[in-house]
Amino acid sequence: MSKELIRLQNCCMAFDDELVLKDMNLYIKDKEFLTLLGPSGCGKTTTLRIIGGFTTPTSGDVLFDGVRINDVPPFKRQINTVFQKYALFPHLNVFENIAFGLRMKKIPDPDNPKRMVKLAEEEIQNRVMEMLEIISLKGFEHRKIDALSGGQQQRVAIARALVNQPKVLLLDEPLGALDLKLRKDMQIELKKIQQQVGITFVYVTHDQEEALTMSDTIVVMDKGTIQQIGTPEDIYNEPKNAFVADFIGESNIIDGLMVEDGVVQMYGKKFSCVDGGFAPNEPVDVVIRPEDIDIVPVSQGQLTGTVTSVTFKGMQYDIIVDFRGFKWLIQTTDHSPVGAKIGVKIDPDGFHIMKKSDYSGKF
Ligand code: ATP
Repeated sequence: MSKELIRLQNCCMAFDDELVLKDMNLYIKDKEFLTLLGPSGCGKTTTLRIIGGFTTPTSGDVLFDGVRINDVPPFKRQINTVFQKYALFPHLNVFENIAFGLRMKKIPDPDNPKRMVKLAEEEIQNRVMEMLEIISLKGFEHRKIDALSGGQQQRVAIARALVNQPKVLLLDEPLGALDLKLRKDMQIELKKIQQQVGITFVYVTHDQEEALTMSDTIVVMDKGTIQQIGTPEDIYNEPKNAFVADFIGESNIIDGLMVEDGVVQMYGKKFSCVDGGFAPNEPVDVVIRPEDIDIVPVSQGQLTGTVTSVTFKGMQYDIIVDFRGFKWLIQTTDHSPVGAKIGVKIDPDGFHIMKKSDYSGKF
């Protein structure tokens, strides 16, 4: 298990009296790929800026390797950032864009440690070539930046940020400007680069699929607070509340129910479920994933509903079913036409029972 590298301790951030981060507590481990995920305006970029040192929290502490770094400026942190608008130098070729930071760097002269000297050209060559290998752009070193595709430019931006060997790379929606196909390729590429260089990546996105694909740990945020921290599997399979369930993947949320002795009552019918230890009179939200609902003949169904829409999605159909005015999304490979009466069955494991929240559907 890697050790803790960064900790945000009770961090709050206010802009003009408006609290946009509320008592944020988070630790990030060495060498992990951690993603801050949430809807627009939930405070992801602000959190990233606090880690990078571009913003100082209104209250609370930022620790790096156990040392408080609130007052350490960005350039003195062992942290680099890649932004969506990657701002490469158009007049320099690929090699010189990556080498730029190294050429600016001064190190103590080995023969006279009081004197600062530039890095040796040989070291610059070696480090840049190593980066070109990592980003799979060997042979492109003399290319001009505008003769590269968007994905290649993004990889150069990543190499430029990695070449001076930071311990942490911050990435703020770096794939946002790319088209869908390229984004998917780059997601896999980025994860590979992170594993190869073996440092911590902190990634910001509002795209849940992107977060699920790349992350070791996902931090789901809403309105300046952390809603859940966990592995992609944890977050998807065991969402802590209706917001997380709705944000990660598709969900049917039925609120204000009660569970007793492993039985939940819905629309006048009793369903066996794994009840999660709630008191009998405690209101809960019940979340059912669309893929956990089986379509069966009406005679065998726990509920009977009417199909109101069918959308072909390639691997499956998304169908909307009306149960006495309540609409559910079901994902199935069966094709049931609009207007068909169907029965549904839900496995006890298909019920996710969680504390009732005041979340009222799509963010
Ligand atoms: P997005 O995905 O849209 O980038 P985000 O989750 O990254 O959103 P932040 O950029 O961190 O959200 O913003 C959180 C809140 O703080 C927003 O309401 C935003 O308007 C506000 N905010 C951010 N920076 C400033 C600033 N410099 N001055 C005033 N308000 C700000």
